[in-house]
Amino acid sequence: MAQKFRKIGVLTSGGDAPGMSAAVRAVTRAANARGVQVMGIIGGYRGMIHDEMIELTNREVSNKIMLSGTFLYSDRCLEFKEEEGMQKAIATLKKHDIDGVIAIGGDGTFRGATDLSVRGIPTIGVPGTIDNDITASDNTIGFNTAMTTVIENVDRLRDTCESHARLNVVEVMGRGAGDITLNTAIASGAVAAVIPEAPFDEEACINKVIRLRREGKRGFLIIVSEAFPTLGEELAKKITAITKDLAEKEGNDRLWVESKFCRLAHTVRGGSPTLADRLLATKMGVRAVDELLAGNSDLIIVERAGEITTCGIRWSQVLDRMYKGTLKPGMTDAYTAEQLAEMEAFIAAKKAEFEKNYAMLNELAD
Ligand code: ADP
Repeated sequence: MAQKFRKIGVLTSGGDAPGMSAAVRAVTRAANARGVQVMGIIGGYRGMIHDEMIELTNREVSNKIMLSGTFLYSDRCLEFKEEEGMQKAIATLKKHDIDGVIAIGGDGTFRGATDLSVRGIPTIGVPGTIDNDITASDNTIGFNTAMTTVIENVDRLRDTCESHARLNVVEVMGRGAGDITLNTAIASGAVAAVIPEAPFDEEACINKVIRLRREGKRGFLIIVSEAFPTLGEELAKKITAITKDLAEKEGNDRLWVESKFCRLAHTVRGGSPTLADRLLATKMGVRAVDELLAGNSDLIIVERAGEITTCGIRWSQVLDRMYKGTLKPGMTDAYTAEQLAEMEAFIAAKKAEFEKNYAMLNELAD
């Protein structure tokens, strides 16, 4: 028979993402509705070690659904990676009679969730990260808001690019994943995207800008992933210099494409969550409570083709590594040939979708 839960803990950890607060609210209301008390652990795993928590009543989570960042805060906690820190955290949970945890964050947060699960504390992960780098889930909480913020800002840059016939290279977040970059490049009508998932032909890109300028195009946008920390600024300088030389050589100042660089940086992480992120956060938060109370552990909640479902944390980690090509020997030993084939098909479909969208961007960028 499934364990009877009396009190659970909820935390947000890793990089903050709009919608994390909405997820905490959903967890709280769903658990309280089922007669289970909720403790909000402050500052991620750090609060678990240092016994910093507050009871989350339904009133405590009022007026939180639209908050940006995370009202439970998210501190880095390296101590939790060590056995001693983990044992301290478990002792705090026992002291408060907390018999299950919901951890909202990214892949680092999920490693912590597994560590708790294998030490007898049932834990469920909820993907909250703007980067959308949890391969097993089509969307993560915060991704939609971050993209919306990017296009709002890029639209403003477009206005001034068009007025002055300039180009703007914009660097956006996403760590090692190009999801934010590619989608916002498509949605902002950029001429190119520089993403980790595809090789970037700089010469072809510059030649395209020159051709389009000859054809009368005034403003240009190029979106670059933060995975290339120096590329954006250098590209803007290069386009400015090359087109300036060309304009002088041909005696045609219209060929000069003055190019500016803009790093949106952490502005992309803030702001009130969009409708899509509030819905996702709410559905995932409720499902996490359902899973925990049903006696499940070491799972994450994912969205696939619009449906909320679950997968094992280990499964999700193997999928991430398969996607990035960073699998190490032995990592797939626990899976049958059939399961591996299913994973490979999943990765192939995701990559094909990415390639299709990248090709679409390049075709329309004319
Ligand atoms: P994210 O969850 O966004 O990937 P981090 O990688 O910073 O962010 O991880 C968030 C927190 O999760 C860390 O500060 C740490 O407390 C915990 N954590 C990360 N990696 C591990 C690990 N290997 N084992 C246990 N806990 C971890």
